[in-house]
Amino acid sequence: MSETSLAVLYLVAAVLFILSLGGLSNQETARRGNLCGIVGMTIALVGTLLHPHVESYWLISPAILAGAVIGAILAIRVVMTAMPQLVAMLHSFVGLAAVLVGIASYLSPEESVAAGGRAAILVHEIEIWIGVAVGAITFTGSVIAWGKLRGSISGSPLLLPGRHAFNLVMLIAVVVMAFFFVSEQTTHELGLTYLLIMTAITCVLGIHLVMAIGGADMPVVVSLLNSYSGWAAAAAGFMLSNDLLIVTGALVGSSGAILSYIMCRAMNRSILNVAFGGFGTGDSKPAAGGDEIEGEAHPIEAAAVCDLLRASKEVIIVPGYGLAVARAQHLVNELANKLREAGVKVRYAIHPVAGRLPGHMNVLLAEAGVPYDIVLEMDEINADFGNTSVALVIGANDVANPSAETDSSSPIYGMPVLKVWNAENVIVLKRSMASGYAGVQNPLFFLENTHMLFGDAKDSIGQLVSGL
Ligand code: NDP
Repeated sequence: MSETSLAVLYLVAAVLFILSLGGLSNQETARRGNLCGIVGMTIALVGTLLHPHVESYWLISPAILAGAVIGAILAIRVVMTAMPQLVAMLHSFVGLAAVLVGIASYLSPEESVAAGGRAAILVHEIEIWIGVAVGAITFTGSVIAWGKLRGSISGSPLLLPGRHAFNLVMLIAVVVMAFFFVSEQTTHELGLTYLLIMTAITCVLGIHLVMAIGGADMPVVVSLLNSYSGWAAAAAGFMLSNDLLIVTGALVGSSGAILSYIMCRAMNRSILNVAFGGFGTGDSKPAAGGDEIEGEAHPIEAAAVCDLLRASKEVIIVPGYGLAVARAQHLVNELANKLREAGVKVRYAIHPVAGRLPGHMNVLLAEAGVPYDIVLEMDEINADFGNTSVALVIGANDVANPSAETDSSSPIYGMPVLKVWNAENVIVLKRSMASGYAGVQNPLFFLENTHMLFGDAKDSIGQLVSGL
């Protein structure tokens, strides 16, 4: 295939990726957005395979086949609640790919680089240095995020004494070594040594940055790593002189950055604070791990909840991560439909970080066919809890924790939360008194107007549906 036809294919793919992002920003158009992404990626892959640089298919075919089989099996088998871990793992692959591409392209640069003289070599070496640095931070940071999200690494922040100074020293070392790396006096072997030392330093930096982040800030970290993976891919695109990779990487990088900003605003955090692990918050404390709260919770039976619901005028359903675990979204929809048929006004309140993925709850509810117009964002509905007969909190915990407003020592202090306690009655559906992802106890469970319907959310909602 000629370079011109390839450029046209890449342009079509890039336009499809932009349409895909546009589509994904709205629930009604999300399917179309996904489809554009799939078609764009297929065109990009086919175009790349037909690239004149691909001289033999013997190496690339088994790699594509193995990747496709592993990817398909993972995607089919992954449960919705494990999506964040999978996404973090995929980000780490992008980072690792950028590191490997960088080192490989230093070991055997393209002929055009050598032919371009000293200036071209300098630009190429800077691309390699930046690409490998961003890639290594993305790689190890995402592996740690993966461990934290699946629970194999503690969600509590690792706050080493002098951690900011440690980060700064590593950063300065990376910048200073860059000057030696690109210097004309540096031999190729010495340059490789610098590159490998810098890779090791940035790998440690990635681990340290994400280890310092507490459970409550993980949503922002996931989107931040998403953004880093985009920039790492764009850097790989520069190293390989691949225009589509540059465009795609920049799209992912910038949309990830915008998402991080939105999540930061939703959680009332500064991006610097999250990116550098508690930066500027001397009082930020590790997650408390479920401290006991004085007081008594009030258990309730399903039959009594049915009576309350029947007598209600307005019900607000607050879904959380536990709804996804219980896979109770279809039953919740059934429950809501029954109430609506009986003349009760039912709406859903969605917190921006509910679940384990941006938009997690919206996806679940859309899957169950819940009409979009009764699914409201936190800002749209928070003032209405005061006029609500029953707030039905299903598998949600941190997103409805009043200590975010009242307890300055709490790791979630300052995060806007759903003010469910303002409702006349609060019914919490969960299995035990266990804490949520941030590891803090929830005073909501001990309030006079709160009752706990203990059990798996699917079983409990099933009882409510048959009771009604
Ligand atoms: P939480 O993690 O705070 O709480 C979920 C609750 O669900 C738990 O307390 C658990 O209690 C309950 N639960 C679990 N399984 C079931 C079940 N089968 N049936 C009934 N209840 C169940 O979830 P929230 O959605 O309230 O908050 C999200 C948290 O995740 C926030 O801290 C957020 O920062 C964090 N996070 C969010 C991300 C995002 O992008 N949205 C990404 C990473 C982290 P019990 O065990 O007693 O049943």
